[in-house]
Order: sequence, then structure tokens, then C-alpha cells
Amino acid sequence: MSKDIQKMIELAIDKYKDFHREGRLPTYIPALSEANPEDIGVYVSDIEGNNYYAGAYEKKFTIQSISKIITLALAIMDNGVEDVFSKVGFEPTGGSFNSILEMEKSDSPKPFNPMINAGAILVTSTIKGKSNAEKISRIVDFYRKLTGNAHLTMDNKVYTSEKETGHRNRAMTYYMKDAKIIQGDAEEILDLYFQQCSILVNCRDLARIANVFANDGVIAGTGEEVIPQNIVKKVRTLMVTCGMYDASGEFAVRVGLPAKSGVGGGIMALAPQKMGIGIYGPALEGKGNSVVGMKVLEELSKELNLSIF
Ligand code: GLN
Repeated sequence: MSKDIQKMIELAIDKYKDFHREGRLPTYIPALSEANPEDIGVYVSDIEGNNYYAGAYEKKFTIQSISKIITLALAIMDNGVEDVFSKVGFEPTGGSFNSILEMEKSDSPKPFNPMINAGAILVTSTIKGKSNAEKISRIVDFYRKLTGNAHLTMDNKVYTSEKETGHRNRAMTYYMKDAKIIQGDAEEILDLYFQQCSILVNCRDLARIANVFANDGVIAGTGEEVIPQNIVKKVRTLMVTCGMYDASGEFAVRVGLPAKSGVGGGIMALAPQKMGIGIYGPALEGKGNSVVGMKVLEELSKELNLSIF
């Protein structure tokens, strides 16, 4: 089995190495357009402690929207399920991740779910801490714990680039301020959100985080529970319904795994009670998901019979 997974990863990388041509590097955060579209990295980490990896698995990239999963878990641990979901909904939007339209169209200004930007910004605003510095340090510490990587840092260039150009996120935060559904200083909240999106990870880090979510919140091999199981289950469910934005339905049919993508080119996916998977491929399809990442995941899911459905 183990040799099979290793071989499978290598074959999938080879098979899809030209697929980046079907996608594009994002330009709306200018620093992200400097990535090498040909990079593909895959890392699989099973809950028995076996690891399989190939390609650009050590290449660092910014976590971007994959952070929404981890910060959501921390926010629920900080505030409780009821409190968080009194501010943000559970429903997929069918709209793009940075759409403002849905909030204004619906009866309630509450963002539809925590995976779209408005919902994630709101969730980030609930993280506990006396100052932004304390909040970001709690967030980074939590990411370090989940990855087992004490050296996680931020990419300052991407952070600054998004801070300078993130006017759409700014607009939706001010909209939520106006609707009185977000508390605190808008610029501080945005700063925290931009910082969390700029945390640098590689495929191994993503696979390790996914492994914890696959293993019901326990760090495999140690027995240490870092996220209560009931929270893990809720977050995994939202990954299925909204994790790949308006491509979540097709992804559920084709791949059938809880997953979360980011415009940095990463996808984190997991097979519950089996394994965590981290993939990198910076060229994105029109909905903001890694083109090669989706292809490789479809292949792995089919070959290993991983679909949860
Ligand atoms: N930081 C990015 C943004 O807010 C994250 C979006 C994403 O990864 N889909 O636009």
C-alpha cells in the first residue's frame, strides 16, 4: 500500500504537470503573481504516521483562505458554537469568495458562511486577545501547534501587497460595520485577517493540519487533543459544503473529500480517520482553486477510494 501511494503521487504529478496552463496566477494581490506556475507539490500524511511526498512539497507559499478553517476552529474554541454561528451562517452562496452581493441581497446582513471572505473576516474579528499583537500571536501559535512547525512565519511582501490592494475586503468589512454585525476597529480586523492569510506554509504543513482534522482533533501518535471532536466535525462539514467556494458541489462529486483551497495555490484535503493531504500548484481556475491541485486530488481519491460519500 505505502509504495503504491508514493508511486501514485509521482505519477499524478507527472500526468498533470502541464495542467497549470489551464489556470492563471492571481493578480489582484500583486505579490502572488510572482509564483512559478509550473510548481506542483504533494504531501500525504496518514494517521499511522506514514508520509509520502513528491515534487515541490517543500516550497513555501502563503496559506491564504486555508487559514479560514484553522481560525474558525480557534474562534469556536474561544467563543462557542452558538456565538460564532449567531454572527455567520452555514449556507453555501453559489457566489465568488469575495462577493459582497449576497450580504446585501439577503434579509439578514450576516455573511452566508465562514469560508467566504466576509464570513472569515467576521470570524477573525472574534478571536480573543487584548491587542492585535496578542491575537495574531495566538493565531500563529495555534497554526504552529497544528503543523508541528515551530518556525512558521509570515510573508511580509504578500502581507503588504494585500494590505495595499485589499479594498474589496475593506469594503465588505465597512459594510459589516455599517450593518452593526462586526465589532471593533475595521482596519485592525483587516490587518489581522491579512496577516493570517500571509502565513507561509508548505505541503507538509498543510498535510499535518489536515491530519489533525482527519484524526478528530488529536495529533496523531501523541494522543494530544488540540481541537474538540465536535468542533472538528462542524468544520469538516463546512469544508465539504463551502471549502472550494462555488466549485464545492463539483468538487464533492469528483473528489468527495472535505477540502479548503487558497489563492496562494494550496489545497488542504483530508480523508477522515485516514489521512491529511497538502497540495501546491499556484495556477488557479476561475473560482480561485488550484487547477492541478483539483486534478491530483481527483486522481488520488479515485485510486485510493477515499470519497466519503
Ligand atoms: N487573502 C485572500 C483574500 O482575502 C484570500 C482569498 C482566498 O484565498 N480565496 O482575497
